[in-house]
Parts: sequence; structure tokens; C-alpha cells
Amino acid sequence: MIIAVAGGKGGVGKTIIAVNIALLLRDRGRVMLVDADADNPCVEPTLRSIGVTIENVEEVHRYRPKILEDKCDLCGRCVEVCPEHAIIIIPGQRIMIVDTLCAGCGCCSIVCDRKAVQEEKVLEGYIKRGRAANMDLLISELKPGEKRSYVVMTKMMETYRGELKRYDYVIVDSPPGTGAGVFSILKNSDVHIIVTEASRLGLADFRKIMKLKEEKLPQKKTIVIVNKYDLNLEVTDEIERYCRERNIPVVKIPYSDNIARLYMTGRPVVLENVEEKKFFEEILRRVVS
Ligand code: SF4
Ligand code: SF4
Repeated sequence: MIIAVAGGKGGVGKTIIAVNIALLLRDRGRVMLVDADADNPCVEPTLRSIGVTIENVEEVHRYRPKILEDKCDLCGRCVEVCPEHAIIIIPGQRIMIVDTLCAGCGCCSIVCDRKAVQEEKVLEGYIKRGRAANMDLLISELKPGEKRSYVVMTKMMETYRGELKRYDYVIVDSPPGTGAGVFSILKNSDVHIIVTEASRLGLADFRKIMKLKEEKLPQKKTIVIVNKYDLNLEVTDEIERYCRERNIPVVKIPYSDNIARLYMTGRPVVLENVEEKKFFEEILRRVVS
């Protein structure tokens, strides 16, 4: 079973949910915990008190085109095929690639008869393999200063898709938002845990991700978590009403100093003797029921 833990916006508590559910699932089978939030991978620090062993680190590269101006005759063929409009020609003078727009598709190189487009390899990030508390870990991590986290995350999910099938449970801590990478994770999962928080911004992002799911993936089993639900009861009521109308179960977690403190010190809630464990056990019941 693949369980995606997603949320419209960052900082709503996705990683806390993913880590604690993964730990609870160890009693039921073989578990792989995947950190797909390459921009801000938090699984490793969230588990640090129990010890994370990183066994392998792979580099992820992307393709970057470089135009050799002495070979280029400014024919413009590459400009016509570039899907990102990343190539600019100043007629009769010069050609430029805007790196921040380039998606690295390689089309410019394919169409250039004069072999004026050279391919460069750029280190974009890392895929880490490791273990913690009897679970396997797979972590995507963007190289500092780089911007294309989706390249690292997508490479990880594509490379390991086959291997993930060997686990009884795979928990994927998804990146925030509703981009193509998040959609691909949701599409390839059996259960969606959608995490939101009781704020107006949280509600707006919650509606966005639920709309995406309703339109494109209406059949997937879904559980909604309202984190810190007591911070804005009006918003919590709205989320509950939305879910009630669609028969989606909701688990509400109040603001808790205990959860915040344990998170800051890298100690998973379900391994501590605290009352807040019950919220994660309730989520698990909903997931496996
Ligand atoms: S296709 Fe090649 S020769 Fe033509 S403008 Fe692009 S880089 Fe220059
Ligand atoms: S690699 Fe693709 S996106 Fe980048 S400049 Fe070339 S055609 Fe455009």
C-alpha cells in the first residue's frame, strides 16, 4: 500500500504525520518512508533522536544546454521548438539561454543541424538511502543554491518505483502544493492523507488540492487531518462541512506544546509516553480500515 501525505501548503505538519504513521506501521509489515520534499527534506531531522543511518548517496544531474556562438548562425530553429521560451535571439547579433526558464528537455540540441548546442551536466541534488528504527528511508535533497527540486524528486520516484512495490507500506512525504510532481505522487498512491491547518491560507490551499483530487483522482481513499484545529474553529468547521458532504473522514489535532517540542528535538510522538499518540493511532485506524 502506498500512502501519500500531502498538503496544499508547507509547514502544516505533513512530515510529523508521515513519520509517526510510518513508525506505527512497522508492527504490520515492511515499511519504506520516502521524503519527496526535496526543497525542504525534514524526515531525517524528525527522526534524529533515534538515529538515522545513511547508507548510500547518489547524485542527480540535469542537462543544461550551452550555445557555442561561433558555430551558431542564428537560424532560430531552437527558439521555435523550445517549450519554455528560454532561448532569446537578438536578430543578427547574438543568442542567449535563460537558465532559470530552461527545463532541460534537450529539444534545442536535437534540432540544431550545426551542432552549436553543447550539453553540460549540472549537479542538482541527491538521493539518499538509509535506515532508522527498522524502516528503510529514501530521501530526495536539493543541492543548496539549485532550484529544480522536481528534477531530484521525479528522478527518485522514477528510479525506485519498482523497488517500492516490494514493501508492505510505503509512506511518501510529498512536497507542498499542487504541481505536476505532487499530482504524480497522488496518482501513484493508494491512500491520500491530506494535511491542512486551521487558518484562512490553509483553507485556501486545502480547497486547491481537494479540487485537483476531485477532478482528476476522485476514487482515491482520502483522510483529512486538520492540524492545530483549535487555532481557528470557524475554518475548522468549514473544512469539516466540506468533508462531511463528501463522506471524507477527518481527524483533528489540537495545538500541542508536546508535539511542537518533540518535533524540535527530533523525537517522534508515537515513541514517547504522551497523550498525543492517540491522534496518530486514530489516523492509522482510518488508513487501514
Ligand atoms: S538551432 Fe543551432 S544554429 Fe540555429 S539558432 Fe539555435 S543554436 Fe543557433
Ligand atoms: S533544453 Fe529545452 S527548455 Fe532548455 S533551452 Fe533547450 S529547448 Fe529550451
